[in-house]
Amino acid sequence: MNAQILIAGAGIGGLTTAYWLARHGFRPTVVERAPGPRPGGNGVDVREQAIDVVDRMGILTRIRAAAADVRSMKFVDARNRAVARLDVAGATEPEIMRGDLVALLRDVTEGVEYVFGDGVRDLTQDADGVTVAFEHGPDRRFDLVIGADGLHSTVRRLAFGPEADHVTHGGHYFAFANADASLGEDRCVTMFNRPGHMAGLYRSGNHLQAKAYFIFRSAPIAYDHRDVAAHKRLVHAAFAHETGWRVQELLAAALGDPDFYFDAVSQVRMDSWSAGRVTLVGDAAWCASPASGAGAELALVGAYRLAGELVAASGDHRIAFPRYQDSHRALVLKRQQIGPNVRLMVPGTRTGIAVRNAVARLPLLRAAAAVERRYRTQAPTLPEYTPGV
Ligand SMILES: Cc1cc2nc3c(=O)[nH]c(=O)nc-3n(C[C@H](O)[C@H](O)[C@H](O)COP(=O)(O)OP(=O)(O)OC[C@H]3O[C@@H](n4cnc5c(N)ncnc54)[C@H](O)[C@@H]3O)c2cc1C
Repeated sequence: MNAQILIAGAGIGGLTTAYWLARHGFRPTVVERAPGPRPGGNGVDVREQAIDVVDRMGILTRIRAAAADVRSMKFVDARNRAVARLDVAGATEPEIMRGDLVALLRDVTEGVEYVFGDGVRDLTQDADGVTVAFEHGPDRRFDLVIGADGLHSTVRRLAFGPEADHVTHGGHYFAFANADASLGEDRCVTMFNRPGHMAGLYRSGNHLQAKAYFIFRSAPIAYDHRDVAAHKRLVHAAFAHETGWRVQELLAAALGDPDFYFDAVSQVRMDSWSAGRVTLVGDAAWCASPASGAGAELALVGAYRLAGELVAASGDHRIAFPRYQDSHRALVLKRQQIGPNVRLMVPGTRTGIAVRNAVARLPLLRAAAAVERRYRTQAPTLPEYTPGV
C-alpha cells in the first residue's frame, strides 16, 4: 500500500527517509532543487539515538573515520588571547561536517530515483493519491508526499499554509562560510564576542579548510531567503565596523565564498506534521535551529521513525503518520529548548560576556559536561520496525 512516495529535499532528513523507505520495500523518488546534494555546513552532532540509526545503516564506522575530531573550544578577546577554554576531547558521539554526512548518506542509499535541479511547485490531494506539479518537469502522481525541504519548506506552505504561521524568529541570524585554516587552532572552535554578536572559526581535524561563522542579534528582517547577495549584505552590515580579533579577514573571505550559507535562528512549531497524504520530516517539520546542535540528530531519528511506522502499518499513512508524530515529538520539544545555548554563545551585554567567560573557566563546568556526555549515551534503544499485516 502507498508504495510510490515523493520526498522533496536531499538533505539529511530526505536522504535518510529515502534510505529507510527503500530498505523497507517502498519506491521513493527524491526531488532536490539544487543540482546535487548540497555540500555546505559546519560540524553536526550524531548523538544518542541517531548513533543507532547510522549504525543500522552500516555507516557508523565511516562517520567515526570522517569525524571532525574537535578537541577544544575557546573564547578569545579582541587581541586573540584565550580568555576561557573548554576541553571537549573524548566525546563518544561523533561530530562530522554536514557535507560529509550528506555524501555518506547518498552513497549508501540504493533503490531510489533522484531528480536534481527541480522542486515541488504545487500539490493536489485526492482520496487515492497526490498530483505533484514541479518547477520544471511534467506533473506526476504519487501515493504519498514527504516534505524534507528544510526551514523554508515549499511542501509545508502548500499543505499547511504560510510560513509565518509555523516559523518563530529566534532573535538572531547566522552565517557559515569557508575560511583559511591557518587562521584557526587545529581541532578547536574559536569564538569572539561583542554584545549581541559572535564570530567564530571551526577548525576540524579532518579538513584542510576551516569554517567561519557569524551570529548577530536582530529583530526580524525582511529579505528573500534565496538571495545570497542580500544575505551577504546583511552580514557585512552587522560586522563591518568590528576591528577585533580576525573578524575582518574572516568576513572578507566569507563574502567572496560561493558556499556562503545564511539564515535566521528560527524554529518551526506545528500542531501536526501531517495533512492527509502529505507529511513533513526534519527542519520542515520542527527546525530547532543550529543553536540546538540537534538538527542532524532529529532528522536522522525522525526519518527512521517515519519510514519505520510506514512499514509497520503496511503503508497505511492514516495509522503511520500519527504514530510517527507521537513517537518523535517529545525529543523535538526537548531539543527546541535552546535558550541557554544562545545565551552561552552570544551574550547580549558586556557583563554577560564576562560572566560567561568566568563560568567557562570553572572546573565544575567541565565535570558537568562529562556527566552530560555520559548521560547522553544512555538514550533508549529505538524500535526495530518490521512489516505489519
Ligand atoms: C547548505 C546547508 C548548510 C547547513 N549548515 C548547517 C550547519 O553548519 N550547522 C547546522 O546545525 N545546521 C546546518 N544546516 C541545517 C541542517 O542541515 C538541518 O538542521 C538538519 O540537518 C536537518 O536537515 P533537513 O534535511 O531537514 O533540511 P536541510 O538540510 O535544510 O535540507 C533541505 C534540502 O531541501 C532542498 N529544498 C528546499 N526547497 C526545496 C524544494 N521546494 N524542492 C526540492 N528541494 C528543496 C534544499 O536545497 C536542501 O538540500 C544546513 C543546511 C543546509 C541546506
